[in-house]
Amino acid sequence: MPQSFAGPPFDLEDLIPELAVLGQRTTLLLPKNGSPGIRESSLGGPILWPADEPWPSCGQPGHWAWPNEKSPAGTVPMVPVVQLFARDVPELAFPDGMDVLQLVWCPLIHPLDHAAAALPKLYWRSEADVLATEVLRNSPAPQEGEYEEDFMPQPCAVSPTTAVEYPNWDLPPGLRQTLQPRIEELERHFDLEYTRFAGALQSKVGVYPAWNQPPDWPDCERGHRMEHLLSITAEEDLDMDIGDMGSIYIFLCRQCSHLPYTHRYDC
Ligand SMILES: [Zn+2]
Ligand SMILES: [Zn+2]
Repeated sequence: MPQSFAGPPFDLEDLIPELAVLGQRTTLLLPKNGSPGIRESSLGGPILWPADEPWPSCGQPGHWAWPNEKSPAGTVPMVPVVQLFARDVPELAFPDGMDVLQLVWCPLIHPLDHAAAALPKLYWRSEADVLATEVLRNSPAPQEGEYEEDFMPQPCAVSPTTAVEYPNWDLPPGLRQTLQPRIEELERHFDLEYTRFAGALQSKVGVYPAWNQPPDWPDCERGHRMEHLLSITAEEDLDMDIGDMGSIYIFLCRQCSHLPYTHRYDC
């Protein structure tokens, strides 16, 4: 898996002009070593949390971790996965008055969730509002047996960087057919799969999920097609490691005022 997506090693829009209108700017998170604080963007780092708000926990019956495959008694504290401040991700539209986005999840395996993924929870906050109250200094952490290593992101800093990416499995089917011969020719010529140069297979904000499995775009309960908000992807050689667990994509509906979200697990 490439550590950093730099786009194709040629001008893709020159070679396949039909792609030009489909190119969109994503923000790669690019994790790096560091000890981020609660007022910094991070993957797996401590997050800015109001002391008077209960820390999220998961009590789903039957969630479990290797090797004992037993469910812990009681609830398990969720763990921080992503925190992004608006100042670090200018391409990401925040709801009015909000400038912090946080994602936490349960670090256990969930057999009842069809995706076996970590039941992510999303929070939008105002940094100033949280700072005006007392801030939680030490968030509760799961104990031995209460987490699955692969779902425990290690704290690391991020270097958000924008890049243009193009759809792969999300190409309109008719266009896919039209372009297929030229895509294959490029793949042969550059000895690189289209998947590798069209889009970013890594943790990122927005645009096209990398989709290892066939695309599975969710609709909200009112039937709106949701947008891809975040991808959390296992990356080699990095402190952020969700192991072989593949990718978790978070989707958001901005057409509904309560901003419903859901996730897809892609392995
Ligand atoms: Zn759980
Ligand atoms: Zn909706």
